[in-house]
Amino acid sequence: MFGSQEDHLPDRLPYRIRDDFLSRAELSFYGVLRLAVGNRWVICPKVSMGDIFFAVGSNRQETTSWRNRIASKHVDFLLCDPQTMRPMLAIELDDQSHERKDRQQRDSLQDQVFRSAGLPLVRIRARAQYSVEEIASALQHAVARSPHKTEVPSPRPANQPKPAPKRGAPPLCPKCGTPMVVRQSRQDGSRFYGCPNYPRCRQTAPLTE
Ligand SMILES: [Zn+2]
Repeated sequence: MFGSQEDHLPDRLPYRIRDDFLSRAELSFYGVLRLAVGNRWVICPKVSMGDIFFAVGSNRQETTSWRNRIASKHVDFLLCDPQTMRPMLAIELDDQSHERKDRQQRDSLQDQVFRSAGLPLVRIRARAQYSVEEIASALQHAVARSPHKTEVPSPRPANQPKPAPKRGAPPLCPKCGTPMVVRQSRQDGSRFYGCPNYPRCRQTAPLTE
């Protein structure tokens, strides 16, 4: 390893498995969540917000700054489509610590991030007992209002960018607002517009030549 610090590492490193990967409150809720969700979604606990979202600033510095604001934050549970693992909605279990001021501030940034990106965030107050039906209906409700509820590839999605004018500027990515770039399909060599943020953003638009 190029004479790095790893040469001097002791045999046993000072890492141990945490016994509180999920807190008691989270574990208790997780049991009910599994029943409420069934096979419909995959439940991922403790997901970093940096793994769910990417930032689209107007320049590199701004993008980095927005990315850093969420890098160390996570959401309690992320529910994904079992086929595509696309994030469908997230759940934050609110406990007493959320009464504290710093947590409230965190909550408000977290709420804003989810709202801006269009991913539903359901807040559920931690309790001693939950109703499976109540949780299932709260999730159902949130997904029904979500802009991503019909996120299956369709011939003409509602947010598909308009084809660019023949000799004009490239179209803007409807998700990122950045000018799209010409790409070539590896399969058939055809050319199309793609988002410069690929693979984090997979928006495409037809190229009119
Ligand atoms: Zn994009």
